[in-house]
Amino acid sequence: MVGSELVQTVIANNQWRWPELLEIQCRVLDIHISSSPDCIYWNSVGQPFTSKGAWTSVRSYAPPVEWPAMVWHSSCIYRHAFCLWLAIMGAHRRRDKPLLLGIVDAALCPFNCGENESTEHLFFACPFTQQIWMQILNMCNIRRQIALLSDEIQWMIDHSRGNKFPQNLRKLAFAATIYHVWMERNRRCFKNNFLILDHIIHKIQGDVAAKLWSQENPVVQAGEHYHSLGCNWGLFG
Ligand SMILES: [Zn+2]
Repeated sequence: MVGSELVQTVIANNQWRWPELLEIQCRVLDIHISSSPDCIYWNSVGQPFTSKGAWTSVRSYAPPVEWPAMVWHSSCIYRHAFCLWLAIMGAHRRRDKPLLLGIVDAALCPFNCGENESTEHLFFACPFTQQIWMQILNMCNIRRQIALLSDEIQWMIDHSRGNKFPQNLRKLAFAATIYHVWMERNRRCFKNNFLILDHIIHKIQGDVAAKLWSQENPVVQAGEHYHSLGCNWGLFG
C-alpha cells in the first residue's frame, strides 16, 4: 500500500481483504460492509458533520446566571454595562492581583480609607464609594443599608426586572455608579487627580439623565412617584 488508497481497495467480493495486515484484518471482521457511498458522519451513522454539532459536543456548559438582563438591556449605556460586567466577573485590573502574586508590597484603596483595594471593597465596602451608592439609591427613592457587592447585584436583579421607568432607572443608575467609581479610581491612580463626591454623583446623574432623555420621554405620563424620580434625576430641566 502506498498511502493513497480508498476503502474500496481493501474490499473484495464484499469482504475485507487487508493485504499483509492480519492484525487489522482480524479487527475489522465485525464491521459491516455497506454498499452505500462513503460518507463522513458525526457521532452516529446518518448524522452529518456540522461545525455547530462539533462545537456543541466539545464545549463546556456553565450554569445559567440571572444577571445578563440586568446588565445588557435595551436601554443600557454600553461602556457602563461593560464596566458592570467586569465588576460582576471580578475582572477589573485591580492592584490586589499583583499584591497576591507578590509583585507589589501594597494595594491601598485610592480613596484613602486605609484598606486594600479589591472588587468588593471598591463596590461598595469602601466608605467613600458606599456614600456615593447610598446617595444614588436615595435618588432612586430607595433607602436601605448597603450590602456586599454580590448581595447588591442580587438585589438589583430582584428589583429591576422589566422595562418600567423605576426599574429601568435603577439598572442605569447601578451601572453608571460602578462605571464612575472605576473612572474615579483610575483618575486617582494614574492621573494624580481627583473629583469630590458631589462631582462624581453629578457625572452619574448626567449620564443617566442624558440616556433617559435620548429615549421616549418616560416621565410625561408619570404619576407622583415617577414625578419624584424625575425631579431627583433632573429630568424636568
Ligand atoms: Zn476604600
